[in-house]
Amino acid sequence: MEESCRRAVELGLPSIAFTEHADWIRGPHAVFDVQGYFGCIESCRAAYPDLRVLSGVEMGEPHLFPEAARTLLSAPFDRVLASVHCVEWEGRHVDASERGFLTPANIEAVFHLYLREVLALLESDQQFLVLAHLDYPKRYWPAEPRYEEGRYEKEFRAILRAAAARDVALEVNTTRGGDAARFLCPGPLILGWWYEEGGRAISFGSDAHRPEAVAAGFDLAQRVSSEAGFKPNTDPTGFWMR
Ligand SMILES: [Zn+2]
Repeated sequence: MEESCRRAVELGLPSIAFTEHADWIRGPHAVFDVQGYFGCIESCRAAYPDLRVLSGVEMGEPHLFPEAARTLLSAPFDRVLASVHCVEWEGRHVDASERGFLTPANIEAVFHLYLREVLALLESDQQFLVLAHLDYPKRYWPAEPRYEEGRYEKEFRAILRAAAARDVALEVNTTRGGDAARFLCPGPLILGWWYEEGGRAISFGSDAHRPEAVAAGFDLAQRVSSEAGFKPNTDPTGFWMR
């Protein structure tokens, strides 16, 4: 984490947020060590006093674990993200990133299930501030059939309306870098729908997991968000707003 702070300062970033995973589906090894985590945050703040170091959590499928999520959120997080990684498939919860899971034969059905789970998260009474990587399975999409957001427009718009209604920020996740339409998660088309459906805020996440990747792809994310109608915030830790 301190290396990531060093990288942030090197890049001239005013702030950094560490949104550690809490993935109850992934099992006991993925349980959040609150004390250890906040200890690290304090060390980072002490080592880099001029950098705004935000604490945070990315809760995977928190609506399926409301008690555990509530307990975790009693900790003083600055940023609370929620996301869906898994769908229930043939009797078990499978992460879309699982090797060999997504195939040309099942992708359509799995993605419909995935989007339904995201909607369920938004329609639950689970508290959170940012919806992370809305179309996450696109990272692991099989070569055929091609991923086309337009095929799922109705579902996406229903999700975006629900997100706008509860006033969460939509994350633009840049973890894969590269070409906007293929790798920004979500891409330009969905950001346009977000604006049209009344979305107010966008958050950028490089999902870095390692210091070299901090803020990678942010130039592209900013350009695309700006084209979709969103503007930078005067608060350097704030969301981009419409
Ligand atoms: Zn995630």
